[in-house]
Amino acid sequence: MDSLIQKLLCKYGATGETHRFFGQHHKMYINGEFTDASDGSMSEVLEPCTEALLARVPAASTEDVDRAVAAARYAFDQGEWSNWKPAQRERLLNCLADLVEENAQTIAEIESLDAGKAIEGCKAVDIAGSVDLLRYMAGWARNIEGSTRQVSAPGEHFACTLKQPIGVVAAIVPWNWPFNMAIWKLAAPLATGCTLVLKPAQITPLSMLFFAGLCEQAGVPKGVINIITGKGSSVGNALVAHPNVNKVSFTGSTPVGKTVAKAAMDNINPVTLELGGKSPMVVFEDADIDQVVEATQQSIFFNTGQVCSGGSRLYVHRSIYEEVIEAVADRAEVMKIGFSLDPSTEMGPAISADQQSTVLDYIEVGREEGARLVCGGHRPDDAGYFVQPTIFADCNNNMRIVQEEIFGPVLAVIPFDTEEEALELANDNIYGLAASVFTRDFSRAMRCVQRLEAGTVWVNTHDMIDSNTPFGGVKQSGFGKDLGPEQLEHFLETKSVWMTL
Ligand code: NAD
Repeated sequence: MDSLIQKLLCKYGATGETHRFFGQHHKMYINGEFTDASDGSMSEVLEPCTEALLARVPAASTEDVDRAVAAARYAFDQGEWSNWKPAQRERLLNCLADLVEENAQTIAEIESLDAGKAIEGCKAVDIAGSVDLLRYMAGWARNIEGSTRQVSAPGEHFACTLKQPIGVVAAIVPWNWPFNMAIWKLAAPLATGCTLVLKPAQITPLSMLFFAGLCEQAGVPKGVINIITGKGSSVGNALVAHPNVNKVSFTGSTPVGKTVAKAAMDNINPVTLELGGKSPMVVFEDADIDQVVEATQQSIFFNTGQVCSGGSRLYVHRSIYEEVIEAVADRAEVMKIGFSLDPSTEMGPAISADQQSTVLDYIEVGREEGARLVCGGHRPDDAGYFVQPTIFADCNNNMRIVQEEIFGPVLAVIPFDTEEEALELANDNIYGLAASVFTRDFSRAMRCVQRLEAGTVWVNTHDMIDSNTPFGGVKQSGFGKDLGPEQLEHFLETKSVWMTL
């Protein structure tokens, strides 16, 4: 283990499991076995504050994709999981939830080091949310139902629908919530009886490799969950285009989502796309400003702004415009930026040098476009890929910083005068993942809820997520829902059954 990482683990009192995990050679998980890439290739995983080496992991080849899909296919076709009693699947998912909960501190430490996530937020949101979702979907295993149909065809018939698992699922996740997004991708298909191959982002594979050990402990049958590590352009692409896959479930950027959708379509496979966003927050003159401050803190400045649904466009009624900017900036300026394992850290680094420079480039664009820099705008002096929480005021909808997904802690503030104007501005974007409205006027809130073009609309809050509420976008933010009962539908085939009596 890198000596710097060892020192940090000791300094922050990491668990024995975390120490052991970082001391190991990591392998992928295919057909219930821990395995290297078939050609022995490896890639390095770096810690984003210090660039210290965290681990080497296999760089899978397309041959490994074939192995993983074959294992998932075999397990599915043999009925190893799909023919289990729903109560057995429920028990196993609950067992996985218990194991994640028991290992929450370790998983959070691994995730925090790998993805630069502030540890307390990671525990409270990523890990606790994952435990809850596994339990929620476990509950659904016994509640999947078809329906009987009254038919009018000549003769005497009984007709009904049968819901059956769709088969082998290819699941691809991004780096901003490596563990949590992976659980979003696997809990629902497992509840329905599908088997799957999951590929984490190349730069953040570690928490899922730890999870593979928990699958082993829980007794997940061979081939039901396969986790492969490697590059998106090769391994990810081979996985989503694989002829033995039946369903593609993708979370990531919009440009990659378009490629993935085309590959899935070549096999006429259904695909769920959870893509990028540029979510508006609309603040009316009667808003509670404390709620607005809290909401910006919990969305665009949470997870270093690397949040798909983060409220990155703040439309504020002109009468309270300066007051809101000042309140939001006052809070942003005192955010504790620091090393992710430090429990007092509110905001860790960007995930990588590339991401940091993308965000800093956008900040430069904002300056050039003539927006007023209210706070932040720089990288702090410390080493590591940090970016200050940054607020630009006096923006307009023609600016790139208002139209494009930056995926960093950068907030663009825009004034408006009327409700109609606010809605037009908020909807004037290619994305439609989420939106929020801040007002005490119930009628206005409901009008906005109906007219905002977004998969989720929050009132007087932003970025609330629950296992029981569907999440997913419209427009170029994708289609299909994760979470809630709606997600299960994506992993079930509806078969119509006719019996002539
Ligand atoms: P990305 O699109 O670059 O990568 C996502 C995943 O796709 C990674 O695992 C990557 O290896 C893989 N990939 C890359 N090229 C591929 C290809 N040709 N075929 C198959 N897989 C491929 O996204 P990212 O940079 O990892 O994540 C950030 C993006 O994810 C942002 O746009 C963010 O808004 C989005 N996101 C959306 C949601 C949501 O629920 N809508 C949630 C989290 C993140």
